[in-house]
Amino acid sequence: MINVSRNVGGIFFYRLTYLANRKLCFLTLSALVLSVSFAGCKPRTKNSQNSIKDANIMKHRMRSPLSEEYYSHQANWGGACPSQLRQSPIKLDVSNTGSGGEKPIEFTYKSAEVTLVDAGHTLRGDIKGFGGAVTYDGKTYELKQFHFHTPSEHVFSDREASDMELHLVHKRKPDDAKDADIAFVFGFLIRKDTTGSKFFNSVFDRFSSSPLLADEKDSKHGLTLGSESRPKFRSELDEGGLSLEGEVHHEKPLDGGPITLDFSQLVPAKAKFYVYKGSLTTESCDEVVTHAVGLNELAISPTQIESFSDYYGISKRELQKPGSPNVRKYQLANSVKVSR
Ligand SMILES: [Zn+2]
Repeated sequence: MINVSRNVGGIFFYRLTYLANRKLCFLTLSALVLSVSFAGCKPRTKNSQNSIKDANIMKHRMRSPLSEEYYSHQANWGGACPSQLRQSPIKLDVSNTGSGGEKPIEFTYKSAEVTLVDAGHTLRGDIKGFGGAVTYDGKTYELKQFHFHTPSEHVFSDREASDMELHLVHKRKPDDAKDADIAFVFGFLIRKDTTGSKFFNSVFDRFSSSPLLADEKDSKHGLTLGSESRPKFRSELDEGGLSLEGEVHHEKPLDGGPITLDFSQLVPAKAKFYVYKGSLTTESCDEVVTHAVGLNELAISPTQIESFSDYYGISKRELQKPGSPNVRKYQLANSVKVSR
């Protein structure tokens, strides 16, 4: 039927063009009318099915009220946040290349099961079991979770902020390390690019198809702020199962159970990083984090980044003062893939 319609349409189109005596505007109008009528005859294609699916997703995607509320109060955050000694994030001065050459950041990553969680102010992936580790400056840190910020929290002095930032959060081994080097965070600036990546596809396919906190009709996950003055979240260094007495978690694991992600494909070997001593960028702002921010950006599809920012809005801490020059030293480093 469709082929016949197209043939008839083709002849009709030919006769119209002949009768129009090559008048361009009439040709254009004819083509437009025909393409509209053919579109109505087409069977439902994969694309149209996808757009119906997208429409269903978008229907449930409202802005998370928690993220905006959380970050709008950041000037009043407690804990170490007001210290201004070694707070993060900061603008990284590319003219300051540190001293002592480049140090290696040895990393060994593998595939691991990950539970994705709508954490209210960000999308977080909790690693189940062992997903990998980094060794820097003689200390080894194990990969615990990752999450995103929009736009990027860190900024290099020679460019604008990036569209997004991925933080891979590692905790020192042994777990009882209590000095100022408890955590190591790989920060990857991310830009929109149609190439995307398998890693981000896996994460955002699940994110786009699962109900989130804002889809909940009740307050069982603590979405309703009620008498709270502002939302509180778990620290970036707290792991699953932690109970915060008297505090609301504001978390919802995404539907469908864990997904498997290959972290070895995510971090490029021989990538360059600016390393500095800083803090957590969420409330409590503990000054226990070694940040390694990659000079080269990762790519993510525009749809994926928009699905995140449509829901979480601006999900970032503002740039902090540089702090003490004795503390705020840069070290250039490069990533070295290690197989164990
Ligand atoms: Zn972060």
